[in-house]
Amino acid sequence: MGNRRIQSIGTARALFAVPLILFACGVAPEAGPPQSDGPDAPVLLLGVDGFEWGLALPLLRAGELPNLEAAIERGSVSALETLHPTWSPRIWTSVATGKLPADHGIEDFVHYDDERNPVSLFTQEDRRTKAHWNILSDAGVSVDTIGWWMTFPVEPVHGLMVAQTNAPIEADGSRSGPEKGLLRAGVPAQVHPASMEAEVFERFAEIDAGLDATLEGIFGKVEPYNEESAGRWSDCRWAFRADSTYLALALAQAARAEGPADVTAVYLGGSDVVGHRFFAAHRPGPFGLAEDSEEVRAFGEVVPDYYRFVDAALGRLLAAWPEDTTLILATDHGMVSLDQDVQKRGGILGSRDGKANLSNTGGHPRGERGVFVLAGTHVRAGLGRPAGKPVRELERGDIEDFGSVLDVAPTLLALVGLGAGEDMPGRVLERYLDVEAPARVPTHDDAAWLEARVHTGIQPVDPSGRIDQLGDLGYLGDE
Ligand SMILES: [Zn+2]
Repeated sequence: MGNRRIQSIGTARALFAVPLILFACGVAPEAGPPQSDGPDAPVLLLGVDGFEWGLALPLLRAGELPNLEAAIERGSVSALETLHPTWSPRIWTSVATGKLPADHGIEDFVHYDDERNPVSLFTQEDRRTKAHWNILSDAGVSVDTIGWWMTFPVEPVHGLMVAQTNAPIEADGSRSGPEKGLLRAGVPAQVHPASMEAEVFERFAEIDAGLDATLEGIFGKVEPYNEESAGRWSDCRWAFRADSTYLALALAQAARAEGPADVTAVYLGGSDVVGHRFFAAHRPGPFGLAEDSEEVRAFGEVVPDYYRFVDAALGRLLAAWPEDTTLILATDHGMVSLDQDVQKRGGILGSRDGKANLSNTGGHPRGERGVFVLAGTHVRAGLGRPAGKPVRELERGDIEDFGSVLDVAPTLLALVGLGAGEDMPGRVLERYLDVEAPARVPTHDDAAWLEARVHTGIQPVDPSGRIDQLGDLGYLGDE
């Protein structure tokens, strides 16, 4: 720990050195970006897609999410407000920038032409404002970003960036299903620094080779009962593989001699995917599904099993990070049963096109609030839930509605001693911290940075396959 701090201060000093010399020579330095000596303790931002209090709390009460329970015990919680619509590229970029989609520039999955035909995929280059990884890098703070939305192509950050590409799982677009990106062998600009690329892809290959065993470890033996259910199950593999890859990469960063970066952001997306695909299997009643139906017998434990996996991942990360680490666990939205919608479409077993209505039995159509847990250095304990009530007895109604996805970036910056931009609509969640929010700066988007933005127009793959796939999933159109 001591070494890490000295190193990070050393880095900040090194960055200061040039302007100071210029100043000494009488040349007025141009005001550079705000600098920081780094956080007092490492910060771990774990983004978990679609993780829902209403699904987590029954497991927590049963003692099955011990790591989440311990984090809540020593920290503070809330149900985090989100934006609508809850499309991942928009929300996760708002989490990273503290700005609304209209301001950060990532408003959708794809760009449309004037006639509303989808033409190309949104990429990192469409972002018009700094994300936390840019602000931190420019401040001399080391930052690792692993699997975060809209990070392809990677940017030159002060740390590791492993992109999540907005792309279909098969380059020829023959496959439907994935809504979230992953690493793609053979595509450039997915890893920064380039010197880490071989190591990252080696780990990715290891995860891929061991995926069947990993899944059996998480879910036991899952046996689909017909073609539709087999397709639904195999459609989730890409998300599980991406999560296991991101987790392994994060753990490898923490295991280095120098320890983890000052700030690390890791994204896990499988909780959203299983919520969509297997909500009815988990809560069958409202769908008119019997407890002994094939669906429940095959998939009834998929959602709780994946929540247990996310909890175990949290435990492994916290064990690998120093004890004084500040944890920010944030989700982009919650997840609810779509039984009403499914009934309207003809119930589980029938629909207008004669297909089973099982692929979207859970969702987040009304911007349902997500999970927020803050714990560790500079975090006050016990807020956002009833004082004196044991964590193991918490109900959904006990969790306070507080904060928004827009507050995550300002709060993260405060933990690093940096002021948020006046152009960020969110606030520092000061009530949860034992430090005051640093004074705001007018903006972090200095002209030099904006000018230096690279616009290669590079796409992760031929976008046509991904566009077809998003169409199949109902993400395109006038809505
Ligand atoms: Zn979702």
